[in-house]
Amino acid sequence: MAKLSIRDLDVQGKEVLMRVDFNVPLKDGVITDDTRIQAAVPSIKHLLAGGAKLVLCSHLGRPSGPEAKYSLAPAAARLAEILGQEVKLAPDCIGADAAALRAALQSGQVLLLENTRYHAAEEANDAAFAKELAGSAEIFVNDAFGTAHRAHGSTEGVTHYVSKSAMGFLMERELEYLVGKLESPERPFLVIMGGAKVSDKIQVINALMEKADAFIIGGAMANTFRKAQGYQTGNSRVEADKLDLALSILATAKEKGVSFLLPADTRVTQEFKEGATTQVTDPYEKGGFTPEGWEGIDIGDVAIDEFTAEVAKAKTMIWNGPMGVFELDSFAKGTKAIAEAMAASTGVTIVGGGDSVTAVNKFGLDDKMTFISTGGGASLELLEGKELPGVAALSIA
Ligand code: AMP
Repeated sequence: MAKLSIRDLDVQGKEVLMRVDFNVPLKDGVITDDTRIQAAVPSIKHLLAGGAKLVLCSHLGRPSGPEAKYSLAPAAARLAEILGQEVKLAPDCIGADAAALRAALQSGQVLLLENTRYHAAEEANDAAFAKELAGSAEIFVNDAFGTAHRAHGSTEGVTHYVSKSAMGFLMERELEYLVGKLESPERPFLVIMGGAKVSDKIQVINALMEKADAFIIGGAMANTFRKAQGYQTGNSRVEADKLDLALSILATAKEKGVSFLLPADTRVTQEFKEGATTQVTDPYEKGGFTPEGWEGIDIGDVAIDEFTAEVAKAKTMIWNGPMGVFELDSFAKGTKAIAEAMAASTGVTIVGGGDSVTAVNKFGLDDKMTFISTGGGASLELLEGKELPGVAALSIA
């Protein structure tokens, strides 16, 4: 059922509490990447322009109580720069000081509450905490997609103590691309999966098997499939206890007529370091294998040709997980080739969170994708077909 959107709200003169994701990377108190703050700005500007008295809340890191290094002060300062207006920071997210600052807010002003995770009650979704956090706000907006898979005080609990809860623009876009666009995708619909473990992605594979026309599988995950098929994988990273699972996935794909492409060959190395010598195995169908002492760290060149051809054919594609150890340039060729093929596609290209997002940014191809998810765990859970607690709790439109 459609959820209430920020665009449906009349906020003039009303106190609005908005959950944002200001969980930004910090080094020595300086923000090293403000993407998450920038991502919340459209919703913030919209509410301020509508005349809201805007109260923002977020977590930052994993403090075990009030700890200065997890303060949102740098985020408040950065937001003030972006908006060109004052952003006050309440010293705590609940308590008398926060309540007084909230009561003094005027329409068009914004206050940021200090880190919600200074209180263990946040993650415990404690009712008294959530009620105090909701305070006198009439309306709650959730624009923190990255934490929507957690039923915390600031994502789920607060919704019980306001009259309306709506999704922000960022949340709305995430749902549009990770749910809406995949409901009846333009075909062929291709799923590109990689990364470390089959076990992390099994539920996503199962859920998307119902919808996709084709899968391509890379990363260490592919080694597990190849090992399960009986190929030698040398010293590659393999999930030895997931071989049966891998075989059952292959069987299901066959049964459903879903094309399930594994890398025809593998780039291997003897040294796991930048600048290491690499070579590509012969294609498995021609007797290829990864020898003992060698480790698969990327898809091979035949695999790159086959996979990029598949990307070129697709009209809708979603990518989760790198093809290899892309963090090291020597092992990044396959991941880069997939990113470039997606960037060149005229279809709908969705990068579904986590390390593939890091890869696309690293290659400078982020502005060539239709949509890049800001969530990691939240994106995976949505793709698994789960309803996120932070979304489920929002009002019906
Ligand atoms: P995930 O978080 O499951 O998407 O996994 C991403 C991680 O998998 C990245 O840090 C990659 O370096 C790693 N990875 C990808 N391919 C391989 C591989 N063939 N061997 C070892 N690690 C890999």
